[in-house]
Amino acid sequence: MTASSHPGTTAGRTANSVAPQRLTVLGATGSIGESTLDLVGRNPERFDVVALSACRNAPRLAELAIRHRAKTAVIGDAEQYGVLCDLLSGTGIRAGCGPQALIEAAEEPADCVMASIVGAAGLAPTFAAARQGRRVALANKECLVSAGDVFLSEIERAGAELIPVDSEHSAAFQALAGSDRKALERIVLTASGGPFRTWDLDRLSRAAPEEALRHPNWSMGRKISIDSATMMNKGLEIIEAFHLFPVTAAQLDIVVHPQSVVHCLVFYTDGSVLAQLGPPDMRSPISYALSWPDRMATPVARLDLVKLATLTFEAPDEARFPALRVAREALARGGSAPCVLNAANEVAVEAFLDKRIGFLDIAAKVAATIEAADVRGMIKSLRSLDDVLAADGESRKLAQSLLQPHIANG
Ligand code: NAD
Ligand code: MG
Repeated sequence: MTASSHPGTTAGRTANSVAPQRLTVLGATGSIGESTLDLVGRNPERFDVVALSACRNAPRLAELAIRHRAKTAVIGDAEQYGVLCDLLSGTGIRAGCGPQALIEAAEEPADCVMASIVGAAGLAPTFAAARQGRRVALANKECLVSAGDVFLSEIERAGAELIPVDSEHSAAFQALAGSDRKALERIVLTASGGPFRTWDLDRLSRAAPEEALRHPNWSMGRKISIDSATMMNKGLEIIEAFHLFPVTAAQLDIVVHPQSVVHCLVFYTDGSVLAQLGPPDMRSPISYALSWPDRMATPVARLDLVKLATLTFEAPDEARFPALRVAREALARGGSAPCVLNAANEVAVEAFLDKRIGFLDIAAKVAATIEAADVRGMIKSLRSLDDVLAADGESRKLAQSLLQPHIANG
């Protein structure tokens, strides 16, 4: 069951139930994971924490697992397993490590799984949660980008619920509630424009990772912060929205809104526009994904529109931020093209963070990888998670190989 179908019941907690929601958080040590657990810590009676996972930070994972009385804690990196076991010894919390343990954690009986592992690493565990028919609170946008149709059919088949966490999609989900779908005309996602909104091309060509990581409004993980600077994040979000909501690509637009107060606007055929507003704090959309169809109180700052006084909007500039166009073209190409886009982007972002390529090379390398994949006949339809993982792996190799000449030339 997808967010767009607005079911009347929920898999676990119902509107009047008092039973705590059994919650697993995949990617517990990340920006979304920590925000989720912040809400859990403020409402301990609402939640029963089942499993928590992290990639490498065993001390933080153990601390969170102990504080929230998790049953299981899983670390992705096998080298950190010993540290995790030592820290959890005597607590009764089960420790696990590696990709299979992550999948098993996602499968443990729970009402809701917060899917907040970054990147394609989140695919298999998120699929595992979906197959159990859980509520999947989806932060990992790469899942919809790389595996859109395959993922949605797993959700459908298992009778799972898919609730978006990404702020713009949570906003659209809220602005679509109870509406006549036939009257839906357009969905406009807002973009902050990132730290380089006003920079010219020459300056962008010299932008350093530290500058790109300094987002003006949101505090987020490193990968999505770079995606915000290139605006690839909005490209990924267009693809995400395409899968989540009953619209065509042509009905999805982006508008740059530097204050990040309006998160999404839904246009209807009668000329009405429903927008969702809120401060740029992910605890708001996270809380909605956890508590839907109810709302839960959060400590996020309340909007003061008089103090804000002015909200501004501008058209995105695809000449300076070509990633938007590259992502739209991948969506139009269809098949595995968005999967290639995502894999190549992950490789390019890592290379930029390692100072192996420049800022403007990110979108260029992604576009070049998609072209090269097309020439090699690698763009094909994807039918299963295995197909998706194979396409992802192949695309990473291709993207890496396209980075080589750049490195050789200095
Ligand atoms: P982050 O980098 O802060 O955290 C990522 C989490 O995933 C960490 O717990 C990390 O340990 C874990 N992880 C990373 N690689 C892993 C691997 N190979 N195996 C197992 N675990 C791994 O990222 P984030 O900003 O919290 O973003 C998480 C996801 O949510 C991303 O897909 C992002 O696009 C999406 N998202 C984030 C925000 C935000 O405000 N941070 C907003 C919208 C969507
Ligand atoms: Mg977003």
